[in-house]
Amino acid sequence: MNKDRKLIIAGNWKMNKTVAEALDLVNGLKRELAAVKEVDIVVCPPFTALDAVSKAVLDSNIRLGAQNMSEHNVGAFTGEIAAVMLKEFSVRYVILGHSERRQYQHESDALIARKAACAHVAALKPIVCVGESLAEREGNLTEKVLETQVRGSLAGLTKEQMEETVIAYEPVWAIGTGKTATTAQAQAAHAFIRSVLAKMFDEATAKQVRIQYGGSVKPTNARELMEQPDVDGALVGGASLEVRSFTDIIKNSI
Ligand code: PEP
Repeated sequence: MNKDRKLIIAGNWKMNKTVAEALDLVNGLKRELAAVKEVDIVVCPPFTALDAVSKAVLDSNIRLGAQNMSEHNVGAFTGEIAAVMLKEFSVRYVILGHSERRQYQHESDALIARKAACAHVAALKPIVCVGESLAEREGNLTEKVLETQVRGSLAGLTKEQMEETVIAYEPVWAIGTGKTATTAQAQAAHAFIRSVLAKMFDEATAKQVRIQYGGSVKPTNARELMEQPDVDGALVGGASLEVRSFTDIIKNSI
């Protein structure tokens, strides 16, 4: 696939995989994907498996991501993990503002923006998630919601930081439901997000930013999604938990 932006496909393992299971999965991915150069491949295990997985992916083409981090650098924040702690495990990416965290932990755009700024200070690349609910789509509010989330969650970033930030467009109604946005719906949302970035920053910056699609991506729909001009990769939940399906998504996307 010939795009100026390199595809980035990330697996969000969520609260799945013990250390032993994580090692099985990542060792399988290493074997199957060793020859892939066209895609930035990222796995995001739970915190408890970062140490083991970071050792397993040394000298491989698989990069490590975390699923969340604190907006603070150090201190009395029980249960939180700081960017500098992620760096100890060679983590390169961090998912921020996933819809499950927006929903269950009530994360706001302002909080996500503070976390994104903090990630950049530590040279971690944020994967910032945005996406509308079914009620919002049916109420014709998709663009309004996306613009609010994009402006709010990326507020205060410099152009240079923006270029090192990945956006994941994940319509909430497509996450874990088996319902995928049509290629036309995905392309329209991605193009709209890019137009918001052009207004916030400039055209050149907007053209650099990679925008992933997320929501029931499978081996069978990966190619047509990746063929869309503004779709630059995928954030994959369920199908990233098995070697076969995650491998096939990546191979079918090239
Ligand atoms: C996700 O939760 O980021 C996601 C895209 O999940 P799924 O692929 O299972 O829909």
